[in-house]
Amino acid sequence: MRHPVTEILLAGPRGFCAGVERAIDIVEQALSVCDPPVYVRKEIVHNRHVVETLRTQGAIFVDELDEVPDGATVIFSAHGISPEVREEARRRGLRVIDATCPLVTKVHLEAIRYARENYSIVLIGHEDHDEVIGTLGEAPDRIFVIASPAEVEQLEVPDPEKIAYLTQTTLSMDDTRHVIDALRQKFPKIVGPSRDDICYATQNRQAAVKKIAGDVDVMLVIGAANSSNANRLVEVSQTARTRAYLINDVGDIRPEWLADARRIGVTAGASTPEVLVSETVKALQRDGVAVREVHVVEEDVRFALPQELERLARERGITLPSPTAMRRSL
Ligand code: SF4
Repeated sequence: MRHPVTEILLAGPRGFCAGVERAIDIVEQALSVCDPPVYVRKEIVHNRHVVETLRTQGAIFVDELDEVPDGATVIFSAHGISPEVREEARRRGLRVIDATCPLVTKVHLEAIRYARENYSIVLIGHEDHDEVIGTLGEAPDRIFVIASPAEVEQLEVPDPEKIAYLTQTTLSMDDTRHVIDALRQKFPKIVGPSRDDICYATQNRQAAVKKIAGDVDVMLVIGAANSSNANRLVEVSQTARTRAYLINDVGDIRPEWLADARRIGVTAGASTPEVLVSETVKALQRDGVAVREVHVVEEDVRFALPQELERLARERGITLPSPTAMRRSL
């Protein structure tokens, strides 16, 4: 690839978060523990490369439970599901392994608690995202999904004195703050998390992009078009007035984007495997191009595997490897 680039800045942290690592581990371990076929409802995480790799290992991806035969094994994705889906699985006698990220489950539990206490719940997020669809299902009569301060103006709730807010885990920190400020202004009695429910991985990846955006001419964000946190990284860079492009992989880079770029920033969404970053850097590297990592924080978060997977393994006399000992293909 011909370009005038002299330096590549790699944002850190980038790529896989603990929830995505766990979800991929769950599918790979389920394939080794359970009798085939093993079904996965929806994309386990929003990345085509991840889904295709797991498909070649034997996982069968479906959109809805009616594509799963009665009694079969099904894995729920990292984004979470509504209680309706869980109930359907129970009714159909499906063997369920839940790969919902524990940080998404935490938001579901908050929604359940507020609903029990008769609060109206404002869920800040994107209504078409799997995570929001799942959380909304916990209390559809009480939850109002909004995405912007303008929507706060239009919002009417039964009792403005009894209102709570929650957020999707993968939003822009800055945009979300503006929505929360607007909510607090309109509903002074509103309660919610101390700041928001945006997860550590989303926050750290956005902080890393903010750190390098001012030092680069172009930012390449590797991630899927339907990945919320990857899209937010593009926006964070653009807010810092640095051109940014979302690419699935190195094949999407257009030479004209780099025509006048001397320094390029590279980052990756939380569901993007590192191999896609390495391939991109390799393609951009040539004699005289320096590569520098800029880390804003080290992450050491790990989540345990779900108990149902541990139980299935025990029943079959299989010992699951510890999370640190797991070897994944991604
Ligand atoms: S982005 Fe955050 S909430 Fe989503 S899977 Fe990763 S750690 Fe969990």
